[in-house]
Amino acid sequence: MDEGVNLLSRDIEEKKKILDIIPAKCEKISFLFNASEKLIGLGEPEEVFDYLVNTSSELFPQADNILLLLLERDTLRLTRSVKHKNLVIKDKYGDIIDKWILRNNQSLLIEDFTQEYRFDCKKTAAFKERQIQSLISSPLSIGERIMGVMRVESKASRIFSLDDSRLLRSICDLGVVVLERANLMRRMEELAIKDPLTGLFLRDHFFSRLNNEAKRDAIKQTGLGMIMLDIDDFKKINDTYGHVVGDIVLRRIAKILKETLGEAGNCICRFGGEEFVAMVVEANKEKILTMAEAIRKNAQDTAVSFRRKDVCFTVSLGVAFHPDDGIEISNLVDEADRLLYKAKREGKNRICYIGQ
Ligand code: GH3
Ligand code: MG
Ligand code: MG
Repeated sequence: MDEGVNLLSRDIEEKKKILDIIPAKCEKISFLFNASEKLIGLGEPEEVFDYLVNTSSELFPQADNILLLLLERDTLRLTRSVKHKNLVIKDKYGDIIDKWILRNNQSLLIEDFTQEYRFDCKKTAAFKERQIQSLISSPLSIGERIMGVMRVESKASRIFSLDDSRLLRSICDLGVVVLERANLMRRMEELAIKDPLTGLFLRDHFFSRLNNEAKRDAIKQTGLGMIMLDIDDFKKINDTYGHVVGDIVLRRIAKILKETLGEAGNCICRFGGEEFVAMVVEANKEKILTMAEAIRKNAQDTAVSFRRKDVCFTVSLGVAFHPDDGIEISNLVDEADRLLYKAKREGKNRICYIGQ
């Protein structure tokens, strides 16, 4: 009889324990549900990074620091962190623990840095500089492909459970799918508007930007310059050295254009095969002519190396301005084109503009 009562009361005790943890579990499930709904709505990678660290900081109030490290060209880099106000995280490239996560693509729970036998935790900056005693960490990965590491750490030992570790992994898994989608969308948008060989904008995007500029100009005139550029005797380069060298020259011209004009607001476009056009905003005639001359000179002084030979090239440019030359924005491209062909007729490797 006594034994039966004992068994029953033990059973009741165990069930009571389970009942006690149910509200906390329900709260976590509902948190995860809300977090996933919000995450799915995000479109930019930066938004996903912010959301991951902020959500983890809410989900693990017992944590002292949350670190998000991203893998960029084989190097981990601290990208986001939530930490104590005055704390400076000096170690920006991850430690042995993060590298273990990367190598093994597994999440990890360290309950006590001083009693950890898998890693020499006491040598880490986390222990020495931030006085960290415990952590949970998860890879940001899709299958075998790892994008980074999320790390939630505390100055107290035995503060995280295996459940916490699993929860962090769930958030990371979800985040990484949204991140992948955001990256793919960005890549697709880029492919639609950018030339893959040179990385410059394609014609359609260029004209839509020009259209916007014309609308802006109707409200506030700030001046707009158009530079049209064509490589001189490019066919000869292709015929003499082959198309691969021709492509290298095209890329080099793109680089020169980006370096000379690459300010925000300007738009550089591969207009056709070996023809480029650039719209320079908020600039006067003098400044744009200086830029055009810098491009011409830079092209003339640049050589592409092929089988120990220097392949040289020159460019011709036509430059038109609004409003200085009395040309409407809608006619700027045609006018710059006309001036470019004038430069070709006059002997190449030169710039033509109105009022020369
Ligand atoms: P000009 O000085 O009058 O401009 O002469 P050109 O030889 O530069 O001009 P032309 O229009 O006769 O030749 C342009 C060449 O550009 C022909 C074409 O094969 C080449 N081309 C166009 N697109 C590409 C490309 O993507 N890669 C390479 N390598 N060549 C290209
Ligand atoms: Mg040409
Ligand atoms: Mg041409």
